[in-house]
Amino acid sequence: MIDAAPTQARTKVTAIAGDGIGIEVMAATKTILAAAGARIDWEDAEAGAEVFKRGIGSGAPQETLDSIDATRVALKGPLETPIGYGEKSANVILRKYFELYGNIRPVRELPGVKTPFSGRGIDLVIVRENVEDLYAGIEYLQTPGVAQCLKLMSEPGCERILRLAYALAQAEGRTKMACSTKANIMKTTEGMMKRVFERMAPEYKTITPSHVIIDNCAHQLVIAPEQFDVIVTSNMNGDIISDLAAGLVGGLGIAPSSNIGDHAAMFEAVHGSAPQIAGKNMANPTALLLSAVMLLRHIGDFATAEKVEQAIFVTLEEGRNLTGDIAPKGHAAGTNAYVDTVIGNLGRASSQVSRSYSNLTLPKWTDRTWHHSVDSRELVGLDIFVESEREPATLAAGLEAAAEGTAFGLKMLSNRGTQVWPDTGGHSFKVDHFQCRFVLRQHKPGNYGPEIAELVRKVSAEHRWMHIEKLQRFDGVDAFAKAQGEN
Ligand code: NAP
Repeated sequence: MIDAAPTQARTKVTAIAGDGIGIEVMAATKTILAAAGARIDWEDAEAGAEVFKRGIGSGAPQETLDSIDATRVALKGPLETPIGYGEKSANVILRKYFELYGNIRPVRELPGVKTPFSGRGIDLVIVRENVEDLYAGIEYLQTPGVAQCLKLMSEPGCERILRLAYALAQAEGRTKMACSTKANIMKTTEGMMKRVFERMAPEYKTITPSHVIIDNCAHQLVIAPEQFDVIVTSNMNGDIISDLAAGLVGGLGIAPSSNIGDHAAMFEAVHGSAPQIAGKNMANPTALLLSAVMLLRHIGDFATAEKVEQAIFVTLEEGRNLTGDIAPKGHAAGTNAYVDTVIGNLGRASSQVSRSYSNLTLPKWTDRTWHHSVDSRELVGLDIFVESEREPATLAAGLEAAAEGTAFGLKMLSNRGTQVWPDTGGHSFKVDHFQCRFVLRQHKPGNYGPEIAELVRKVSAEHRWMHIEKLQRFDGVDAFAKAQGEN
């Protein structure tokens, strides 16, 4: 028998049921946690579709933000993403508002859930950076037909997620850390995560580090998923591989997750609001329930977490009263019957042993604006992005004429990242968006403010530019990428 610790203090937790099946899976989770003796006082709060419809563009009213601010822990059901009303996803708003920078997705073979990978012993966790990268949401139409999204990654953003991944590995007794990036192509952004990882890894002597290119990571996850222990990665990579990995062990419907920040933590099922089955006593509450198990461990109630997790495992293993998404054909039970069965199994132990968990110690950060100082910085040149229908040679002639008499000379033009002038003989298709690289004819110390202004004024007279980027060198190292084909 497994008993909850009777001495556990009561904890206030914000509960956001959300939309669609969120109402049922939240009710089911609260019922099972109460039956397990979890000492939680729920503070119900709203977010999602109804809030958007009331004209609150964030989808999360101030009272909900205040509640999480006070409790610092939330359990959240799925929120419908507005189509045609509202502004941004309420999920993203909550993650950004509370700077929930670490998305943790355990991926574990569950007893009784048959998949093509059953028996492989998959037990890994994906730690995804949750607020930077392409998800900073800074996007522009640079020309009416060419779009740009800024991929912003910062050193502290990389260090913070890597330290969280190591802290998690230590709390769960894990021994291998795979950092997965696209550093071979995006050497400055993705490369930053790889460099910070390589700098930090020697500090964690009991954990074996490795780096794996993200596309190979996806391949390896399908070929030999059991090789992984912890995978830490950037936002976009993590978004994709964490869903892929969930598919290996039974799909999104049973996948739990947490979103961790310094100020608050939010636990949620990975699935959506499944409107087709909402209100029909068909929804599987396991994903939210396993998220609540993660929440219990987060607040230090390891005994109740273990008790609920084992009851879920026994229920899945015995295969009685499972919901339609995981039951054998023709044997589907309703949500309520599943809940009663899990409650009946509280205190029983399954054949699947739980890991031994200890408290997760979050890395410490100060609130000050972070700054990386360097000993030297110099200007090398300027990229001016220009919208033009001209052929590269004609455009280059016009730009060289504009730059005459200025401090800068035209070095090259690229189109979607490939040099097209001077011609390198490639076959690249061109669009009306050129990166026009000007470099200083002669270097002298200074900030070149007037010289830059003069070049931009002269280019503007003849050409439609939409974006300017300084080419800098920090401590003698170029802080910009070369175009494909550029010397
Ligand atoms: P979804 O809600 O996850 O549903 C897809 C299908 O998966 C459902 O129709 C259902 O399949 C099955 N399913 C998902 N969860 C289940 C559960 N707990 N029990 C049983 N079956 C389950 O994905 P979606 O249809 O793409 O998205 C619907 C809405 O949810 C959208 O507004 C989306 O933006 C939102 N969403 C929110 C979150 C979040 O808040 N974190 C995440 C994803 C999506 P059957 O129809 O075969 O029964």
